[in-house]
Amino acid sequence: MAKHTEDNCVFCKIVKGEISSYKVYEDDDIYAFLDISPASKGHVLVTTKEHFQNFLMVPRDLVEKAFMVAQKIGQVQMSLLGAEGVNVLTNVNEVAGQSVMHFHIHVIPRYRDDSLEIGFKPKMIQKYDLPVLAEQLHKGLSK
Ligand code: AMP
Ligand code: ZN
Repeated sequence: MAKHTEDNCVFCKIVKGEISSYKVYEDDDIYAFLDISPASKGHVLVTTKEHFQNFLMVPRDLVEKAFMVAQKIGQVQMSLLGAEGVNVLTNVNEVAGQSVMHFHIHVIPRYRDDSLEIGFKPKMIQKYDLPVLAEQLHKGLSK
């Protein structure tokens, strides 16, 4: 499989206008456009113009900007497209379903009876040691 780099990044090319897209929003840092294989009517991708491999790599100020735009888009999907709900998600790495290695947020409007399935089945809760996990994460977050 070809290595994902900034040079052959589809979303960098979209941001630069080298590949066409259906733009819905643009400012100095953020570019948002329709997903070419939409999960539902009006499925939007919000990206940073600068290339970052995934959500975890993005500087905080740009994360904030991107999610503010995603929120606004969700509101407009509700008020103008007739959506009754929205899924907002960003995949990190192939194991989590990321196929384009340039940070993006999916903003997926939901309609009654759209038959879309986004979700996860809870694993047996007793498989995990919740107190130990909470402590581990809590410690990591307070560093
Ligand atoms: P992910 O699997 O989270 O990396 O999502 C990548 C998304 O990018 C998929 O939903 C694709 O349909 C979408 N996509 C890939 N190429 C294009 C393109 N040229 N224009 C618009 N959306 C695209
Ligand atoms: Zn890129």
